[in-house]
Amino acid sequence: MNKTSGKQNIYLVGALCVNLRRYIILIAIVTILLVQALLSLHRSPEGSDLEESQRQSCNFCQHFPDYKKEPRIFIVTPTYSRHVQLAELTRLSHTLMLVPNIHWIIVEDSIEPTRLLKRFVQRLKFLFGFKAITHLNQETPEAFRLKPGDPSWAKPKGIWQRNKALQWLRENQESLDSDGILYFADDDNIYDLELFHEMRDTKKISVWPVAFAGGLLVEKPLVDLSTGRVTSFNSMWKRQRPFPFDMAGFAMRLRMVVDKSQALFSEKQPIGYVESHFIGQFVSHWSDLEPRANNCTKILVWHTRMQRPALHEERKLAMPSNYGMA
Ligand code: UDP
Ligand code: MN
Repeated sequence: MNKTSGKQNIYLVGALCVNLRRYIILIAIVTILLVQALLSLHRSPEGSDLEESQRQSCNFCQHFPDYKKEPRIFIVTPTYSRHVQLAELTRLSHTLMLVPNIHWIIVEDSIEPTRLLKRFVQRLKFLFGFKAITHLNQETPEAFRLKPGDPSWAKPKGIWQRNKALQWLRENQESLDSDGILYFADDDNIYDLELFHEMRDTKKISVWPVAFAGGLLVEKPLVDLSTGRVTSFNSMWKRQRPFPFDMAGFAMRLRMVVDKSQALFSEKQPIGYVESHFIGQFVSHWSDLEPRANNCTKILVWHTRMQRPALHEERKLAMPSNYGMA
């Protein structure tokens, strides 16, 4: 080996060593990045706040087939004509489409079924495959309709429609799964899917918090954790009500309601007492209530109301802007 080729070899070995070091550093960096990525995946923001048990209960969507064996939930929704009606019902229907094993009873506040609602129901059935849906109607008597300028709480709402649904459930009990659950879901609230999972094993009456109800951020039953019983409520508005909570805050065993054929919603109650009076026909004490939603610490339903749309330009048009639309 001559001197030059010896030098070249030394250079080559040196270059190889430098490259090797670079490769090793590169591989080390890539490995560190990979490990970090894997760790951050494991501690993703969605996962980090959830206990394992909570994660499992949230996974109920993956177990849809099992819900065939669970009691069916009968969901009663009163609804009345206004500009945002279809928008509210669309939102609610798209939530309910994700809930397995339910029967949705829509009761329109009208003398007869309207074309709008008939089409809405047909579309749900035939376009989206919504299986169990019943469309009823029952008009609110004139004397109980809100007059222009009345505050929204001035009259009881949805009473006649919910009673119509109760009558229908009692008349059709033979053909229904009367071991089911009954829930009154107004058309304007927002419902988390987990709520339906929570109410599914109701024995008599299950209860949970409702956000934006009773003038509070959240109106809720207070639970004694040592006994798992409801001991009081945080309600402020008409807090002397025997059962001071909102329509969206409870579900019942259907059997109990069907059997007690005289039990109805009453328009004769003082304003704000509709729910309390109805529940009082079935249970006499708070300790009979079954707290859900992690001992009433989770919000799974929001008592919302859609703002009226601004339509001030509409009157300037010769024809309504929706003229001729499907
Ligand atoms: N509702 C009705 N007829 C009316 C007013 C309301 O059928 O004249 C329905 C409405 O669509 C909703 C329920 O009754 O599903 C409760 O009404 P709202 O949401 O206005 O009452 P609040 O939220 O103030 O209790
Ligand atoms: Mn409402």
